[in-house]
Amino acid sequence: MPVPNTLPPLFDTHAHLDEPSLLADQHGILELARTHGLVGILTIGTTLASSRHSIELAASEELIYAAVGIHPNYVSQTQETDWPEIERIAESPRVVAIGETGLDHYWKHTPIDQQIDYFERHLALSARLGKPFIVHCRDADDDVLRVLERQARTGPLEGVMHSFCGREEMARQCVDWGMMISFSGMLSFKRNDELRHIARSIPRDRILIETDSPYLAPIPFRGKRNQPAYVKHTAEVLATTLDLSYAEICALTTANALRFLHLPPLESPGTAP
Ligand SMILES: [Zn+2]
Repeated sequence: MPVPNTLPPLFDTHAHLDEPSLLADQHGILELARTHGLVGILTIGTTLASSRHSIELAASEELIYAAVGIHPNYVSQTQETDWPEIERIAESPRVVAIGETGLDHYWKHTPIDQQIDYFERHLALSARLGKPFIVHCRDADDDVLRVLERQARTGPLEGVMHSFCGREEMARQCVDWGMMISFSGMLSFKRNDELRHIARSIPRDRILIETDSPYLAPIPFRGKRNQPAYVKHTAEVLATTLDLSYAEICALTTANALRFLHLPPLESPGTAP
């Protein structure tokens, strides 16, 4: 008989489980995730191959859900035939979101026009399938806002600014368009008072948490390999930041994640079977 899980529930809304460092230890990573109370992990596609891999992981493990897409830094390596295939596999029932997409001026791996073209394709696909989109934004706030503003003319935006580290006005604008703001381990870094200030300014029903693992490990694991279980530490910092209890933050962010991804809400403990 399974032991009822009485831990506060956590949902890691952004992980790259197909990265070799996580894949090599998949069993251990999922074990630790469960013992920390995780009820869901969204694994994110960055190329066609990685998107296919995400679906395989989601199909093999109840805890895992998939997002498919082409990361802006990989657009220049993408074949012409990859996009129709992304559109096709995006219809898989295990795929609950589209991305990650967005713009990246930091690495400059792909000319910006190509990045914008693919960003817009993801937004259109997301709207067509009714599956939310995931935005990566690095040193590209103004260009990302321009693309989102065009899309917002067609209706509310069902998307998330992942691992948010932009300006407060950007967060407010995205929230006004209907979007979610997701905080990663960066929320725990000492110098990021501004980010914690922004977290306090966001309506509570728009807040998500994530690890972006294997990157961006929160304190006390900063600089080490990140993994979904560590979303707990971001939840703890968020609880202190918003002056809520840890259990309240877990309940809030997990309910937000499930609603955002169109997944059924958790049965509250004590409800009749
Ligand atoms: Zn990512």
